[in-house]
Amino acid sequence: MKNNNISSSLIPHPSSLILVTGGAGYIGSHTLIELDKAGFDFIVLDNLSNSSEKAIRRVEKIINKKIPFVKGDIRDKKLLREIFKENKIDSVIHFAGLKAVGESVEKPLEYYENNVCGTNNLLEVMKEFGVKKFVFSSSATVYGEPDKMPVTEDMQTGVGITNPYGRSKYMIEEILKDLFISDNSWKIAILRYFNPVGAHESGMIGEDPEGIPNNLMPFITQVAVGKLPKLRVFGGDYPTHDGTGVRDYIHVMDLANAHVKALEYLNNNNDLNEPLIVNLGTGQGYSVLDMVKAFERASGVKIPYEIVDRRPGDIAKIYANPNKAKELLGWEAKRGIDEMCESAWNWQSKNPKGYKGE
Ligand code: NAD
Ligand code: UDP
Repeated sequence: MKNNNISSSLIPHPSSLILVTGGAGYIGSHTLIELDKAGFDFIVLDNLSNSSEKAIRRVEKIINKKIPFVKGDIRDKKLLREIFKENKIDSVIHFAGLKAVGESVEKPLEYYENNVCGTNNLLEVMKEFGVKKFVFSSSATVYGEPDKMPVTEDMQTGVGITNPYGRSKYMIEEILKDLFISDNSWKIAILRYFNPVGAHESGMIGEDPEGIPNNLMPFITQVAVGKLPKLRVFGGDYPTHDGTGVRDYIHVMDLANAHVKALEYLNNNNDLNEPLIVNLGTGQGYSVLDMVKAFERASGVKIPYEIVDRRPGDIAKIYANPNKAKELLGWEAKRGIDEMCESAWNWQSKNPKGYKGE
């Protein structure tokens, strides 16, 4: 039984077991905390290709509970069958995937194999075992370069995507839509994340990229701890308020909570006539320089930067209309950029070398 301090009538999900793929990663590890808080039980599968088991151990400390963890790959059907045979899994939250945009341009086959074939494999085994509840980590990148802002879920996807990573997300979305058409007893949530940043308030877990970070926030925090000399701001001549790229940054704990809401939505709705597709963002766009200033405010550390050429494949501006998630899931982002920056700094300053420093 969970949470001994609450009465059993308040325990919301006494028997559902969730398989969380990629649960040792950045967003997955934060989501485990929210799942636990909501009373869900889970088992984690991760091949640790971009993460560390230490993240799982730290989540165990935060939630004060042992986490069943399997080190393995979503492309390993034999292993998946064993997991489904041995555990009464009710649903899958699927974070596992490769996510480095630049690397995906260099290694497209690896990205399609891991992301698209891996997901297909997982869905096949789920089907074999009659497990038909699926929450998928998609991305705002499926919108390509949208001509209208903010972005709504009914806008065109799949056109103008600039890299194989983004196309792998689009392809998986299409696979999921086709799967639903073939059998509408599937319950599918496609969550289109905008730009997740920040960390759990404890500072015990956070974003810990391998090598030089590709993303803005971990780059800034690594400059702040002196690991990197200065930020390179990609492009100062975009048609935005200060010339730098605008994105919709969302606190990772808000994002984590949205997975609980999405799962509850699937659990509570038996007559879905299509996959649920929602944007997860705040609806606010901030530029690179807005983020630099917010980070300096939150940390008290000056971030040296220089404005350099645009990064190939980048778009000027994208931010979400998050209303659909609010209407259907009762979810909205609660934390602003100050909290995002404070928590990112709390994690990085306590763990300047990430999990490797332990
Ligand atoms: P992450 O790399 O920290 O987490 C992904 C996890 O999946 C890692 O722990 C990795 O080891 C694992 N993994 C990768 N391939 C695997 C495989 N074949 N089998 C088993 N495990 C495997 O990334 P994240 O930022 O936590 O992202 C989680 C998901 O959200 C990914 O699918 C990503 O594409 C998606 N997403 C992320 C962002 C972002 O900015 N972070 C934005 C939109 C979507
Ligand atoms: N960016 C930057 N310098 C960096 C990394 C990112 O100027 O070292 C900019 C990038 O051009 C974009 C924004 O920060 O305008 C967010 O980039 P990120 O890679 O974090 O996310 P994306 O939206 O590209 O997935």
